[in-house]
Amino acid sequence: MSPIAKVSSSVRVDPEDNLAAARKLLADTIGIDSHIDTIQRVLLGGDLGKREDAGHVDLPRLREGGMRAPFFALWVPVFFRGAEAVRRTLDLRDAMQSVLDAYKDQIEMATTAADIVRIVNAGKIAALLTIEGGHTIDDDLHVLRMYYRLGIRSMTLTHARNTNWADSSSDTPAHNGLTDFGKQVVREMNLLGMLVDLAHVSDKTFFDTLAVTTKPVIVSHSSMRAISNVPRNVSDDMLRALARNGGVIGINFGMGFINPKDAEKLRSATNTESEAPPLTGKALDEYAAENAQKLFGTRATVVATVEDVADHIDHAVKVAGIDHVGIGSDFDGIAATANGLEDVSRMPALVAVLLKRGYAESDLKKIMGENHLRLVREVTGE
Ligand SMILES: [Zn+2]
Repeated sequence: MSPIAKVSSSVRVDPEDNLAAARKLLADTIGIDSHIDTIQRVLLGGDLGKREDAGHVDLPRLREGGMRAPFFALWVPVFFRGAEAVRRTLDLRDAMQSVLDAYKDQIEMATTAADIVRIVNAGKIAALLTIEGGHTIDDDLHVLRMYYRLGIRSMTLTHARNTNWADSSSDTPAHNGLTDFGKQVVREMNLLGMLVDLAHVSDKTFFDTLAVTTKPVIVSHSSMRAISNVPRNVSDDMLRALARNGGVIGINFGMGFINPKDAEKLRSATNTESEAPPLTGKALDEYAAENAQKLFGTRATVVATVEDVADHIDHAVKVAGIDHVGIGSDFDGIAATANGLEDVSRMPALVAVLLKRGYAESDLKKIMGENHLRLVREVTGE
């Protein structure tokens, strides 16, 4: 989740012949997106069963875009603190459950790679559940373990602010990376079979985690600093370390992540979310709803295009290797996406651009899902 404004223009850059081939490739692949923030829209009254104009993702658009196994993030803004963050996580988990219950014939929760394959082969959307923000465990491994039991299989160690045990990329360093308790969190996630997600963490937290983890990690929604130099993106050194670890990065489509001309808005937006109001319960929920309206309710223009997104993929593949790159759009957590990728239904446009650039179909299948599937298999144990 990156709080920024919304896109209005729509640019089609893909030639129709490549688009048909892209659709076929996606139909033959289990399309995995390692980060969407869609479930917050359900908490605010959205219905994922209908094709809506609002937001970037719903069940019809997932099918249209060929992304049949998204990671649904339970994103808890950092102004939810302590027990309030635990409550918000449970509220979001319940919102997810309401979708799973209402549309049993269309979507099912997946907790392993085998689940993802089985559910998608049955013609449904496979939902892998993740948590965005390590503050949600309220510094308590018991809470983490119960999240696992609720089906959650991944967690970012931080969001936009430091936790009490890990530094964030968008905050002033307080712990010199990961504390001893932070290392315990990583080890516990390894033992449980949860993906350790290093999107949002500071560089020092990133490298500290790689020194501790016994499993490959995920960077679920970040892009390339070599192209857009913002702290939320990763450096080439981080990419090489990720490849040595066996991990996978999901490329973020959000404004500022992709094109340096949009990046200044990302810098300024990250800070607004960090100011915590002295509220609890319903009043805090109402504040969160207003905040979401502010972040996602207005449209702004962006410079970034689907071609720019392809540039990030090219760079990641060049530095980390073809086995370590995937898609992590951040749909519904970014108010502005790249032009040409306005919502998840437009995914074939990205595949068409990559086909045009000469990627082999087998390599594109890795990027569009197979790498993430392998990672889930290695971490969850099946
Ligand atoms: Zn995020």
